[in-house]
Amino acid sequence: MIIVMHADAGRSDLDRVVARVEELGLRPHVIVGTERTVVAVVGDERGAVSSGLETLPGVASVLPILAPYKVASREVQSEPTVIRAGSLQVGGPAIGVIAGPCSVESLEQIVGTARAVKAAGATALRGGAFKPRTSPYSFQGMKEKGLELLAAARAETGLAVVTEVVAPEDVTLVARYADVLQVGARNMQNYRLLEAVGRTQVPVLLKRGPAATVEELLLAAEYILDAGNRRVMLCERGIRTFETHTRFTLPLATVPWLHARTHLPVVVDPSHGTGHANLVESMAAASVAAGADGLIVEVHPDPKTASSDGGQTLDFAAFGRMMEVCRRVAAAVDRTIG
Ligand code: PEP
Ligand code: MN
Repeated sequence: MIIVMHADAGRSDLDRVVARVEELGLRPHVIVGTERTVVAVVGDERGAVSSGLETLPGVASVLPILAPYKVASREVQSEPTVIRAGSLQVGGPAIGVIAGPCSVESLEQIVGTARAVKAAGATALRGGAFKPRTSPYSFQGMKEKGLELLAAARAETGLAVVTEVVAPEDVTLVARYADVLQVGARNMQNYRLLEAVGRTQVPVLLKRGPAATVEELLLAAEYILDAGNRRVMLCERGIRTFETHTRFTLPLATVPWLHARTHLPVVVDPSHGTGHANLVESMAAASVAAGADGLIVEVHPDPKTASSDGGQTLDFAAFGRMMEVCRRVAAAVDRTIG
């Protein structure tokens, strides 16, 4: 349920509501908006039905939250959530661009890529140090050494670092280096991992599972929000269908659908979404046209030698061209990019 506070309710009224909700064995999430403060109440609400919450001082109304996801829902927060993580901003008028290699491979590779993508307008650097690979025999990432190289690239360029965490026990380590923790598609429903990133205050990029519905994506985000971390970006990265001409099928209607139902920002990944470097520019531009708040794009100095995902990776020149096209599309939809 949502407890809507009166515009003139004081701090003590809010504290009393929060304490009463906790007494009822429920969890209060206070959301301070520009026009009103609400308390989203989650947990088993049966005991709260006739608890008199609506009679407490400062309470304007008590309403049910109709969506199955609660804290993520537009019903509790009408204004979009804006997430800032160092140089990256996602959710405001400017579209954030996260670019870099699928995997961190060397100091030269990651620093060279960071410089090039920054010069083209990217606002954050991506790079996997812990890689969740389909085959146990594929390159698994440089692990902590890779995190150190990402930190060196950040020191060199000022770009925020977005990198994946694949296991709950690695969250503390990865959070020491990352500005944004990526939870990958394969882990979207790893609930212990979602809770672990939810216990940090580091922004999270949550990728949609290739076989997950958008509602399941929102419920996965809800695990992170309910654990106390409000800074979640959702990422459409393509789903598995019968189609084989692309690696995954990239459904861009997800973007406006999500915007209608959640205040969380939406990022699109046209690299994994298509699997082909020659399709990335068009789908990045289409994502911007569809209202994406951010893009995450794979870029490498020499894609054909990349240790993972080379076929879908742009070189520096192609990334520069993509940014040019996206900048023009962004202007047409009253946004800026980078
Ligand atoms: C990645 O970003 O390199 C990655 C593994 O993505 P996904 O989890 O979407 O497959
Ligand atoms: Mn990849």
